Amino acid sequence: MNKIAIAIHGGAGTILKKYITPEQEEAYKKGLKHALDVGYAALEQNKTAVESVELSIIEMENSPLFNAGKGSVFTNKGTHEMDASIMDGKTLYAGAIALVHNIKNPISLARQIMEKSEHVMLAGEGAIEFAEKMKCKFEQDSYFYDEFRYQQWLEVKGSDKVQLDHAVNKNKKIGTIGAVALDALGNLAAGTSTGGVTNKKIGRIGDSPLIGSGTYANNSTCAISCTGTGEFFMRGVVAYDISCLMEYKGMSLEDACHEVVNNKLLKLGGDGGLVGVDGNGNIAISFNTEGMYRAYKQFKKPGVIAIYKEN
Ligand code: ASP
Repeated sequence: MNKIAIAIHGGAGTILKKYITPEQEEAYKKGLKHALDVGYAALEQNKTAVESVELSIIEMENSPLFNAGKGSVFTNKGTHEMDASIMDGKTLYAGAIALVHNIKNPISLARQIMEKSEHVMLAGEGAIEFAEKMKCKFEQDSYFYDEFRYQQWLEVKGSDKVQLDHAVNKNKKIGTIGAVALDALGNLAAGTSTGGVTNKKIGRIGDSPLIGSGTYANNSTCAISCTGTGEFFMRGVVAYDISCLMEYKGMSLEDACHEVVNNKLLKLGGDGGLVGVDGNGNIAISFNTEGMYRAYKQFKKPGVIAIYKEN
């Protein structure tokens, strides 16, 4: 079998050991491990990188621990608006959705748009209509309700303040999710899914569904999935910038990620991080925050699961 590899994230932010109980740490690690194992097993079974990324993200969307699918954060109107995208590095096809509600697995809808429509991105009611046509699974509002995230919203409700759901110095549930993978045929893929930021204005779209900003995959360079304050990742066109540094400047994945996250993004004032993989199965994990929920596994090597800067 050729080299296979997968890396996932569950959000970056002010994630310090002192703010997280041992039980929460255990739960997050378990959630990450499960999503990683599902994605890696798919690659071992010769499934495509796109399938692996989708399967891994579905596991995290179904967990209330993460700010995507079930457990998404609240908008300023007390509703949920979810964004997601997926990209196939082999074909450069991509699918994305923004501002959707009641869709159980936004990442699967993004994939349907990539594979079964002539478009790259659908937003709002048009996306919902397409989901109905594709027979995607819908859930009631109550499925997406999470008491903890509701309390988070109440803290900023009525103000113009938005917050990354994992960037405040309290015990916070973790954030946006994403996955990148290299399959046995040497193809790359990336996907990202989110509820966005707490108290965002209705209609706000972040970087996660934007191809090139929050998500990008190209077999000749890398696959990248980002997390952090979306507005900065949009202005920095972060995921594509990394691919460009590799393509035009011949930089390694590791160096390109470091340059963008710890230099260019920081200069813009942007906080966050990303996971990346290249066609040789190299994995890069970069973040300029105190922590990032993350996990990765490369062919024949033990999986790694980490939360804080030092591990
Ligand atoms: N990037 C996401 C957004 O701005 C938030 C996150 O990564 O937690 O919508």
